Amino acid sequence: MIPQSSPVSAYLARRNEIDAAIRRVLASGRYILGDEVRQFEVEFAAAHRAIWATGVASGTDAVELALRVLGVGPGDGVLTVSHTAVATVAAIARVGAVPLFVDVDRERYTMSPGSLHDALGRTAGRAKAVVAVHLYGQPADMPEILALARAHALPVVEDCAQAHGASLGGRRVGTWGDLGTFSFYPTKNLGAFGDGGAVVGADERHLDALRAMREYGWESRYVSRQFGVNSRLDELQAAVLRVRLAALDDDNRRRRLIADRYDEGIRADSIIKPRRFPGAEHVFHQYVIQAPQRDHLQKALADHGVATLVHYPKAVHQQPAYDGESFRPVALPNTEGVVSRVLSLPMFPEMTLEQVEAVCAAVTRCARYPDGASGRS
Ligand SMILES: *Cc1c(COP(=O)(O)O)cnc(C)c1O
Repeated sequence: MIPQSSPVSAYLARRNEIDAAIRRVLASGRYILGDEVRQFEVEFAAAHRAIWATGVASGTDAVELALRVLGVGPGDGVLTVSHTAVATVAAIARVGAVPLFVDVDRERYTMSPGSLHDALGRTAGRAKAVVAVHLYGQPADMPEILALARAHALPVVEDCAQAHGASLGGRRVGTWGDLGTFSFYPTKNLGAFGDGGAVVGADERHLDALRAMREYGWESRYVSRQFGVNSRLDELQAAVLRVRLAALDDDNRRRRLIADRYDEGIRADSIIKPRRFPGAEHVFHQYVIQAPQRDHLQKALADHGVATLVHYPKAVHQQPAYDGESFRPVALPNTEGVVSRVLSLPMFPEMTLEQVEAVCAAVTRCARYPDGASGRS
């Protein structure tokens, strides 16, 4: 079976360096907020050409703490998409805010500026922030989204959990809005071997507030000036992430190469492939196709030894926890259409080109002969 993703391959590809990093931390005697986290923060900020970066315990926490720092609180509306990891919305709910869903663009799968414009009109006064998501590695249309948010004086958080290293017009995602948030969940483009996350930004006051908030609101040791939580990136994960960060651009290049091969090698008219846009550097966290008989195709591919996943089978507003009417200020036709057709093919940098060709052949065959006829192409 060709797996859909393979975090263990990322370990095996750099096993010696990762083992050495882990041994270094174990021997150091410092396991929380030490040199590894400090160095990683400097290196991660530099990689994104951000002013600063700060580690936190997960991508969900990163969104939550970013919203808290921007002053979003109970009852506030936060404009975001429903076609995302449920984590984006869980973070909004954690601060007591209400997600106000905006539809996605049908080709980018990210927040539609036209839909944001409409939602801003309908939720006037209610919305306190915008959370844009760079889904699947595709940068959202930040110039348009920022222009609309600025016109309403709303701060913007970019959820970059699926887009480490992606850029628009040469500028990395995470540095367009007020704050950019990242997850280091093992399958992400930059993955730890456990949980982890980070926030990047430019305003030093935001940095000070985040640093305090991630550790009990401490202004200095044992002095809590403000509300805080425990949301720290630990030294072991930071040491691993430093090894993997050095390879991020190479890994993303490899993902793009695999995507190029899929673009060329999958030959079936019924399949819609991911689009790329001028000036936008997609980092293919996922290579997501749309197929008319998606569930059928997924099963046929499994029979051909190709594992796939659906990101995500239900939009957030279709989840039991979030299906209240108040969550949905506008209809979401693109979101609802997309979730019924998307399928994520195998995508990880260590895939061999033979595996990529095998996926192309299987998708082409299964999409052309959905009833299992053994026609030759
Ligand atoms: C993975 C992910 C998150 C959550 O990250 P965790 O580290 O699992 O908390 C948030 N948003 C998006 C878009 C994600 O893909």
